[in-house]
Parts: sequence; C-alpha cells; structure tokens
Amino acid sequence: MKNPTLRFLGGVREIGGNKILIEDGPERILFDFGPSFSPRAEEFYVDYLQPRSTSRAKDLLEFDLVPRISGLYSREALGDGELAYAPPEVHAIFVSHAHADHAGYLDLVDPEIPVHVGEGTRTLLSAIETSTRMKYGDHPWKVFTDRTPIHVGGIEVVPYPVDHSIPFAYGFIVRTSEGTVAYTGDFRHHGPRAADTHAFFEAVANERVDALLIEGTRAGPDPRRNLSEAGVRSGVDRVLTARPELALACTYPRDIDRLRTLYSAALAADREFVVSVRTAHLLSEVAPRFPVGEIPVPGHAPGLRVHARKKRVSYLWERPFLSDALSSEELRREGRKYVLALDLAHFPELIDLRPPRGSPFLHSMSEPFSEDDVDDRVMHNWLEHFGLEFHQMHASGHASGPELLELVRATGAKAVYPIHTEHPEAFEKAGPSVRLPELGTPYPIGR
Ligand SMILES: [Zn+2]
Ligand SMILES: [Zn+2]
Repeated sequence: MKNPTLRFLGGVREIGGNKILIEDGPERILFDFGPSFSPRAEEFYVDYLQPRSTSRAKDLLEFDLVPRISGLYSREALGDGELAYAPPEVHAIFVSHAHADHAGYLDLVDPEIPVHVGEGTRTLLSAIETSTRMKYGDHPWKVFTDRTPIHVGGIEVVPYPVDHSIPFAYGFIVRTSEGTVAYTGDFRHHGPRAADTHAFFEAVANERVDALLIEGTRAGPDPRRNLSEAGVRSGVDRVLTARPELALACTYPRDIDRLRTLYSAALAADREFVVSVRTAHLLSEVAPRFPVGEIPVPGHAPGLRVHARKKRVSYLWERPFLSDALSSEELRREGRKYVLALDLAHFPELIDLRPPRGSPFLHSMSEPFSEDDVDDRVMHNWLEHFGLEFHQMHASGHASGPELLELVRATGAKAVYPIHTEHPEAFEKAGPSVRLPELGTPYPIGR
C-alpha cells in the first residue's frame, strides 16, 4: 500500500496561490505554483518592496509566504537561508494556466524539476517573459497535449482544456495507485470555450473521482455584475453607436477573448482597434497556436493598429510594431475613428489624448471587491478629471456561486475540497461530501 495523499500548500481560504502536492509512494507532484491575491501576501511585500532577486525563496520563506518543503527550490533562490538546498524531491510540476497566481513562483523552482504545461501556455509564458519583467526560470519544459495521459512514475495525469479568461487553461484528472483526483484549475462556462468545460466535468463525473479540487473565486457573497462574452459585445456595440468620440477600453492584458471581442466591435462600428505594443507582441506570438485567421495580428488583420507611446528607448521585441504605429497626437486628431485599449499604468497618455468630455471609457475588467480599493479610486480620479463616461462591462473568468454548486452535485465526487476562494463554506450547500481544506494537512486519496 502506497497510501497516496493530497495536501494544499496554498490556495486555502484565499484567491490564487494554489499549490497542490500529491504524494504516492516515492512520487511527489505539484499542481500550480504562484502567489495568492490575498491581503496577507501584501503584509510584507508591496509594489515598491519586493524580495531580493538574489534570494527570493529565502525572503518569502521568512514570512511563510511560500511552503517550507525540501527538494523544491533552486539553490540560488534559497541563498544562505535557513531551509537548506536539497536535490529534487518533487518529480514534476503541472501548471494549469499562465495566470501569475498559478505560475508566478516557477522561477524559485530547482531547474532540474520538469514543468508540464500546455503548448499554448508555453508560448504565453515566453511572450510574457520577453515583454515584461516577469521571469519563470529555466526548466525542462514538457508540453502536453489535450486529453493525452502523462505518466510520472505510477501517477497518471490527464489534462483537459477548460474555458477561462486566458486561453490554454486546463483541468486535470489524476489517477494514483489507490484513487482518482480531479483538479479544476480556474474555469468558467460562459465564454467561447464553454464546451471544453462541459466535457471536462463530464469526464470527471464518469470517472467517479474520490476527490474533486474545485476553484471557488465567485463562491459566497458577490455583488459584482457579470456578463457573458456575448453580453460584453452587445454592451460595447451600444456604447460605440451612441458616442462619436474616441472610445477607450481597459482590459486584462492576457484576456485574448476580450481583445477579440473589442476588435470585432470596433470593426462593426467602422473604427480601428488600437492596442499597446505589448498586446501586439502577445497577439503575434499566440496566433500560430490558434486556427488560421482566428487571432487578429497587427500588420495583417485589417483595422488593428498599434499605439506608440512616447518612450526614450524601444526594445528589440517592440520594433516590428512601431513603423506603422499611431501616436497619441494622431489618435487625438481623429478620435472617432478609433477604439483605444489603454492600461491603467498608461493613463498619463490621456494628457496628450485629451478626449472630448463625455468620451466613453469601457472598464472591461472585474469591479473592485472592496470600496476602499486604491487603484479604483485613482482610476476614477483620472476619469473625473478628463470628464470621461464610465461603462462597466465584463465577463468573469470564473463560474458563479450557483453554477459551482450545480457542478459539485453533478460530479458525484466522494470528497469535494473548495480552494482558490475566500468562502469555502459556501460550497457546503452542495452536500455532505464538501470538506473545508486546511493548509498543509495530508488527506488520504481513495480510502
Ligand atoms: Zn487563479
Ligand atoms: Zn486564472
């Protein structure tokens, strides 16, 4: 008897930061490894105060912000800290998708440990590394194929694509020596790949899994408005028809579905869609991973343009997009011809864009959870200063509370562990199989 177990080393009573360790005899595999979005993480490190790049793991371990496990971290990340370096005792890491809260700590990992990702996720991660300060470290990268089993010792892992607010997101079915686990990663079923999510949950139900590890971002009280992707499209259409001025939009940088929605809405309204150089680079990099013509690529797709902000230096990866790019002055002159995607971080461009008062601003991201959200206050100060008209329209990357309960009941899993949520107890309505996980406790699989 190998007595396989599962342990939650993150993602317990917090959104993000999932770190799930499955042990089966000598085999140990980890699912996801990134920082959480919980306030606890910000008690010690904030924007301007970060762990030292020479000893990241040591500096995070000081406050228990990463799990204290041996044979996981690289020699470099541990530095001369109190947790000593040991050769790999974790035999593989599987990453469900490229969001930071699932992949953001990979750079701490021993470069000997293989990291398994979907082909598209590998592309996304390298595009992000090129165009931002984010680093994921060197690893033997193993690229998996949809629904094709991977074997790590005696453990079998089957990756299933799911719908989420970043493409190439996966859930997993994990078969151990004595029982089966399903891990959902992050998912929704109101986006363009809803059928993938349904197929995954059908496979989970057929498998009669012993343990279902399910994300619950939107479980519990959530007053925030949510649309489907199609709902976002008709909302944007309405605004673009009603307003003749420059339209501004703010989205998550890797939400390819939203970028496509905005692009087609702009075309339908006889406008051009203008993206940042970083988004242009991302679209060009991921396009080959999609069916031909599905992803609009700058320089090829009609009506897709690039915004050149004033910068002192341009990086090599930016240059291919700059020759035909539009400046803020050009956008200002003929605003009604464009929809401009503008990140919060680039709001100073508004000083040059100076859109006429009443120009629409489409906030196509989550509403803040709390009323004293600093970023939200700063954004509204800017909008007010320039007299922009605020429109909230977003399709979440996550299933709603009632949808989650329905899925839990339908899978018939023997045990259900809600993770990636601040309200795991909200799942208890789904029945007695629901267990509230504790950080670090080993739970037996299949007994
Ligand atoms: Zn997440
Ligand atoms: Zn996610």
